[in-house]
Amino acid sequence: MKRKSLIIPFIFSMLFITQLCAQKNTHTDQNNQKIKPNSMEDKVTKTEAEWEVCLTPEQYQVLRQKGTEYAFTGKYYHFDKKGIYSCAACGNKLFTSDTKYDSGSGWPSFFKPINDNAIEVKRDLSVGMDRSEIICGKCGGHLGHVFPDGPKPTGLRYCVNSLSLDFKE
Ligand code: FE
Repeated sequence: MKRKSLIIPFIFSMLFITQLCAQKNTHTDQNNQKIKPNSMEDKVTKTEAEWEVCLTPEQYQVLRQKGTEYAFTGKYYHFDKKGIYSCAACGNKLFTSDTKYDSGSGWPSFFKPINDNAIEVKRDLSVGMDRSEIICGKCGGHLGHVFPDGPKPTGLRYCVNSLSLDFKE
C-alpha cells in the first residue's frame, strides 16, 4: 500500500524533470530546416533551478556560474577527432574541429565559431582584468573567453571550457 502511494508522485516528478530537460533539442536545425539561427523564439531560457536539474554540478558551475575548469584537465584539450562541438547545456552548434588548434593554453582553442550567431561576446571586467567573455548564442551559457592572440585567418583564440562542450563525430 505504502509503496504504491509513492510510485505515482515518483512518476510525476520524473515526467516533470524530463519536460524541463526536453527543451534542449527543440528549435535545433534538424535536417537543416530553415530556422533562422538564434532568432528570439530560438533562444533557450530556463530558471537557474531548471538548469541545476539538467546539468552536472561541474557543468553548472562553469556554464551558469562562469567558472573555469583547471587548465590541462578538460576532456577536449588533447582531442583531435573530426566533428562538431556544441553547447553542453542546449545543444547549439558552436565550433567545428577544422578550426580547433593547440594554443598551449590548457583549454580547447578554436580560431572561429561555426557561424556568426553561434556565440555572443560580452565585456568581462571581473578578477581585475578586461576580457571578452564568450557565451552561447542560444542559452547564454558561459563558454570561456576570446583573446586577440589566435592564428590566421581571424587572429582570434576562442578559449573554451571542455565542460561547456559536447562533441559529435
Ligand atoms: Fe547553449
